[in-house]
Amino acid sequence: MTRCRHGSLEYVGEQKTDDGSNSYRRCKDCGMLLVLTPSGKLIGVPGARPEQSATASKGTPF
Ligand SMILES: [Zn+2]
Repeated sequence: MTRCRHGSLEYVGEQKTDDGSNSYRRCKDCGMLLVLTPSGKLIGVPGARPEQSATASKGTPF
């Protein structure tokens, strides 16, 4: 795995937790999904597939 500073993050969504809400970001550099916790901690999510994320529409053209 390459070291990535995750400099350019793309907002994906939020999920409410007991402490507040987790903010989900995706790194544009390496495609990794990251979770920003209410305490400000950035956690990488292993196993997340950047190319098949929930934000991508499944072939529904306008
Ligand atoms: Zn990255």
